[in-house]
Amino acid sequence: MASDLAILGGTPVRTEMLPYGRQAVDGEDIEAVVRVLESDWLTTGPGVEEFEESFAQKCGATHAVAVSSGTAALHAMLASLGIRKGDEVIVPPLTFVASVNAAVYVGATPVFADVDSESLLLDPESVAACLSPKTRAVIAVDYAGHPCDYEALRSITDGQDVSLLSDGCHALGGGQGDRSVGVLADATTFSLHPVKHITAGEGGVVTTNDHIVAERLRWFRNHGITSDHQTRAARGSWFYEVEQLGFNYRITDFQCALAGSQLKKLDQWVGRRKAIAAAYDLRLGGLKELSLLKSREGFSHAYHLYVVRFRPDAFSVDRARIFEALRAEGIGVNVHYIPVYYHPFYKNLLGDQKGLCPVAEEAYEQVISLPIFPGMTESDIEDVLAAIKKVIAAWGI
Ligand SMILES: *Cc1c(COP(=O)(O)O)cnc(C)c1O
Repeated sequence: MASDLAILGGTPVRTEMLPYGRQAVDGEDIEAVVRVLESDWLTTGPGVEEFEESFAQKCGATHAVAVSSGTAALHAMLASLGIRKGDEVIVPPLTFVASVNAAVYVGATPVFADVDSESLLLDPESVAACLSPKTRAVIAVDYAGHPCDYEALRSITDGQDVSLLSDGCHALGGGQGDRSVGVLADATTFSLHPVKHITAGEGGVVTTNDHIVAERLRWFRNHGITSDHQTRAARGSWFYEVEQLGFNYRITDFQCALAGSQLKKLDQWVGRRKAIAAAYDLRLGGLKELSLLKSREGFSHAYHLYVVRFRPDAFSVDRARIFEALRAEGIGVNVHYIPVYYHPFYKNLLGDQKGLCPVAEEAYEQVISLPIFPGMTESDIEDVLAAIKKVIAAWGI
């Protein structure tokens, strides 16, 4: 009965809002941070390198460079690869706006390629159609945590002087075959925001196997200065040089202590995310009102997000109403993402591009992200399922 829905005056499934994502911080993490606070180095100390080494090892990458945010990581990555004014960078529209803002930071022009309808990952055919003599980079986004098909993308960018990059902010702990996200592209960015797999409060990482790019990343995060504070201290030297324009995108040692302590729990946490996703798959997969995203054979999904499409032909109301109803039930659902070129800034910059990527635009009208984080309990999962069932019972047609 429609009146059962909390939004129509019924009793909500739960009174305390279940968030779509939440960090887990334990006593071990806190101790690791306190140890650094009591040490000599709060920033640019040995804790940064220590974290970088364990992160690189986790991904199987030669280099990991830690910075102040995932957004700084994207900016530093593009700048360190020499992407600049006049260049075109191919991006998907279905991503957090930072993936695209980074191209604008370096003066490049974002060009939107559409996503594949089954996975909502960058569609290689659409990328091929967007290539121009000005294309210098493709930023593939591992949407929801499923790695993109980098082999297919590589076959398009090969021999073109185009860097194949990954915004892997959703996909730490994912991979393809025996290779991890972090080595599937020429360089990969990660975020350490609390909603992501591991956190530093704020923070980001770039991984690459290219030592020249890694060196430039280290300069870029420190004003473009080519020798860091520690090296100078060791040499007892006051001399430094700015080789290129950089920023202060440094991360602190105590943030790295938190992220490093969290990294030890990554496998366990990704395992828990997979188990929650499997429960959703099992219980929602058979419902004709919904469609689930497809996982591809041979890939390991890190499940930053669990995204469901509510079929518009199966409901008497639109997605906005379904979203409000789920929130009213105490389920902290979200929408990932508003197509980037819908934002006023991008309309001003590039003109109105509505209609450019029909698959992404259609998905945007239908998607809802369900809560998924390692600390979710079985009864939290049941609450999410109960709320969805109430919506279907009230408004399914
Ligand atoms: C979180 C996120 C970012 C930005 O990371 P911050 O650490 O918040 O700056 C970039 N891209 C994607 C896809 C993200 O999910």
